[in-house]
Order: sequence, then C-alpha cells, then structure tokens
Amino acid sequence: MLLKAENLQKQFGNTIVLKDISLEVNEGEVVAIIGPSGSGKSTLLRCLTQLEKVDKGRINVCGKQMVETIQNKAVYADYKTLHDIILDVGLVFQNFNLFPHYSVLKNIVDAQMNVLGIAKDKAKSKAMELLTKMNLKDRAGAYPCELSGGQQQRIAIARALALNPRILFFDEPTSALDPELTGEILKVIRSLAEEKMTMVIVTHEMSFAKDVADRVIFMDAGVIVEEGTPDAVFSNTINQRTKDFLQRFS
Ligand code: ADP
Ligand code: MG
Repeated sequence: MLLKAENLQKQFGNTIVLKDISLEVNEGEVVAIIGPSGSGKSTLLRCLTQLEKVDKGRINVCGKQMVETIQNKAVYADYKTLHDIILDVGLVFQNFNLFPHYSVLKNIVDAQMNVLGIAKDKAKSKAMELLTKMNLKDRAGAYPCELSGGQQQRIAIARALALNPRILFFDEPTSALDPELTGEILKVIRSLAEEKMTMVIVTHEMSFAKDVADRVIFMDAGVIVEEGTPDAVFSNTINQRTKDFLQRFS
C-alpha cells in the first residue's frame, strides 16, 4: 500500500472541512475523487501532500508515517521524514502553477535541480525526454503565457513527473481548460494509468473517472459518502446523495 490515511479531521475556524476521512491507495491504482464544490476534495489532497496540516488522524505514505494522533492531537514526523515524504508525491493543480517568468524547459529543469539536486545536464535531458512524451518538444524555449491552457497543463504534468513521484495527485486538472482542450490532458492521464502510475485524481469528468479509475470515491460535506468500483458507484449507486450528485451530470 502506498498511501493509508485514517480518520482525518481538518477545520478552518469553525468550519469542519474533513470530518473523518479514511482512504487507502495501492500501488498502480487509479483513484478518482468526485463530489460537489466545497465538499473538501482540495483540502484532502492538500493534507495528503503537506500543503495543509490535519487536526487529527494518521497518514502513512510509502511506509513512512507523516502524522499520527497522540492524546487527541496530530503529531507530525520530524523534518527529515516529512521532506522524504514530499519526494514521494507529486501534485498537479487546476491552474498549472508554472513559473511565468521561466521558459518551459527551465520550469522542468529547475524543479529537478532544486528538489532532487540533479545536475543541470541530466535535468535537461530528462526534461526533453518528458517534453517529447508530452508532444511539446518544440515548445521548450517558450514561456507559459505563449502556450494554450492544455499545453501549460501538460508542462505541469511533465514537471511533476520529472521528480519521479511514487504517487501523483491531480486537483481538477481540466477544470480551468476550454472543453476542447480537456481531451488532451485526459489522454495524458490515461496513458500514465496504462503505465501503472499510482494516481489520485479529483475530477468533474465523470465519464473519464468511469473509464480510467480503478476506484471512485464520492465526497460530500467532508465525508466519504460512497466508494467502490466505477461500476458500483456510477451504475449501482447506493446512496441518495451520490445519486443526486450524479444526476447533474447525466
Ligand atoms: P472542494 O475542493 O471540494 O471544492 P475545498 O477543500 O476547496 O473543497 O473546500 C472545502 C471547504 O473548506 C469550503 O467550505 C472552503 O470554503 C473551506 N476552505 C478551504 N480552504 C480554506 C482556507 N484556507 N481557509 C478557510 N476555509 C477554507
Ligand atoms: Mg477543489
């Protein structure tokens, strides 16, 4: 198992955002998280990738304990362990989060140099290899603003992959894109799934989730309401809240 999260709780002020979330992700598995806006999906990904801290719960990533709860309080691991865990995970955001003043190539090269301490030449050849894979080799010298949203997102995915994560998280990777650009991103994610990349994908693309995910999780109001194979969740829906949510997409 690459990820095991147990009884996660998180609140912002008086708002309880994650109520009692537990999930597991196995190696090579693709998990899709669906649910209405405000249900806590992004917060969950941010907690799993250390961009936020949980108030309570346990998280284990690739066999390393990130946080556990002792006497009702979340206790995080030491700096070294937390840093090691950061290296195990990658996150692709809705809005790409590329450095606008860096070229495409520099975005991917610097990440490797800064995060992994890889030498420039080696980082460059890895970057070019990934740009080739993303069909963007000829845009290496371009700046993000010169690219379409779909191209920028493919660069962001290449940058995440350059750091060799064991688990890749996506937070609504297509929702900032025009509909005609969504397909190219879904195609990239689909090919990563075929390569058995372990992925957790928050998405509003229901047919994509149905197609690509091994397991689907429906979240609403900070809890996991329903979870199962795509067939179970989409075609044999049990919970009324899930049914109401899915209705909006049909
Ligand atoms: P989703 O991604 O499912 O749309 P979010 O995780 O973004 O949901 O948000 C869940 C709830 O947490 C929302 O009510 C949102 O307003 C609140 N929230 C998220 N981040 C913060 C924050 N940094 N400070 C305060 N409230 C937040
Ligand atoms: Mg969100």
